[in-house]
Amino acid sequence: MSREDADAIELIAKQLATAQAPCVTSSFQAGGVVLIHLLRMVRPDIPVLFLDTVHHFADTYAYRDDLVDRWRLNVITIRAAEPRPGLWQTDTTACCARHKVEPLFAALEAYDVWFTALRRDQSPSRAHLALMERFTLPTGKALRKVSPLAGWTTKQVWAYAKAHEIPLLPLYDCGYRSIGCEPCTSLPVDPSNPRSGRWRGEKLECGIHLHVAPSGVAP
Ligand code: SF4
Repeated sequence: MSREDADAIELIAKQLATAQAPCVTSSFQAGGVVLIHLLRMVRPDIPVLFLDTVHHFADTYAYRDDLVDRWRLNVITIRAAEPRPGLWQTDTTACCARHKVEPLFAALEAYDVWFTALRRDQSPSRAHLALMERFTLPTGKALRKVSPLAGWTTKQVWAYAKAHEIPLLPLYDCGYRSIGCEPCTSLPVDPSNPRSGRWRGEKLECGIHLHVAPSGVAP
């Protein structure tokens, strides 16, 4: 086990020890799947929140279903109360708010510790990501947001997956480096920024992870 693996597991175990209701969010990209693999070593039945935006690639749904079966994941699918397929064509901000931000924030009300697979090397918008931070939902409820892979590189994520024989989303074989909804995912235009293929370069974040605390102070 590498030093990075051991540090991540230690952080996860420590955070889970004081959690009343932990969860992890995942879109089943490489980092998310590696994080689930690490979490399962400590808490096999941790709720895995999957945000079904109704715009994912068919490959993503198929891969998710396969991994859920294979690892017997406690997956919880979250959807907008009233999805509007195609809204992205006229307003990506409204579409992300309706299909991602609002339903996820509503679902997170039930949890106190939120694990994410965010990493600093994913994008300039995540360069100052903290391992732990206080995250306040619109209702005022505060959670502990924990990103055990914050300091990992893409190379480390892929090396971990290879070492543990974890199959990854086949779309990576097509050249994608950051994979979200199909209409808003293309090949990266900037090789140094994996998320530069999202939203045709118009933006880097959907709105879920914009509230990054600079101090990394956990509640
Ligand atoms: S990423 Fe695109 S399709 Fe998905 S919710 Fe946002 S705007 Fe809509």
